[in-house]
Amino acid sequence: MPIKKSPAKTVATKTVPAKKVASKTAIKAVKKSEEGLPLSVIIRKRIQAQKARFHANDNISAFIKPGELEGLVEEVAAKMQAVLESLVIDTQSDHNTQDTSRRVAKMYVQEVFNGRYVEQPVLTKFPNVSRLNELMIIGPITVRSACSHHLCPIMGRIWIGVLPSKNSALIGLSKYSRLTEWVMCRPQIQEEAVVELADMLEKKIKPVGVAVVMDADHFCMQWRGVKDRDSKMINSVMRGAFLKDSNLRREFLALIERK
Ligand SMILES: [Zn+2]
Repeated sequence: MPIKKSPAKTVATKTVPAKKVASKTAIKAVKKSEEGLPLSVIIRKRIQAQKARFHANDNISAFIKPGELEGLVEEVAAKMQAVLESLVIDTQSDHNTQDTSRRVAKMYVQEVFNGRYVEQPVLTKFPNVSRLNELMIIGPITVRSACSHHLCPIMGRIWIGVLPSKNSALIGLSKYSRLTEWVMCRPQIQEEAVVELADMLEKKIKPVGVAVVMDADHFCMQWRGVKDRDSKMINSVMRGAFLKDSNLRREFLALIERK
């Protein structure tokens, strides 16, 4: 494995606790003109200044400074508390909901929608020294996501097929899961999520072909709406050799044997 020293290492060697560094940086980050503005507004201004997109399924980590995620949790918690109050829930006497707003805020920012706020996981690439050019299948990878229409959970599985060329860069098996998780931990729609994942894999690995198949339960159809417990959504994206070569496509689909 190549040993590359990243500049972040020098920061880590300092004796000041990481949290202190982060909050100091965060305070510095808030310019005079931004004082009193909610953190979400400040972050949104940075994004708009760069004319970047901030849809539910976009990653905005480039616009968030160290220490600011904690501030965002605080802001979401306060607004979530207002939602609970508008739902006429007595969060003062009801011990079950006393801290719900904070729990939900942490869950959104730090867990289930975390793929919006943190950087892409580092994907160490290896040269294809053995010149592998056979079909590789990774999966099923567990998917936990949420629909951007109702913020209801989407639980499913993904299979990835890769046909490398001798010039492809390979990534470790676990990295497929890490990348999938990063993409899926955002509110979105399944059709777009699989395309985004396929795009990313194509860019990283530069394979001859890439295929992504996802099947998932959508709680917005099971818990609400039509309340159909058995409906699933299945999407597939076929690129390159998987699109042109029907034998390869058939082989991939036969091997993943979804049940
Ligand atoms: Zn929905």
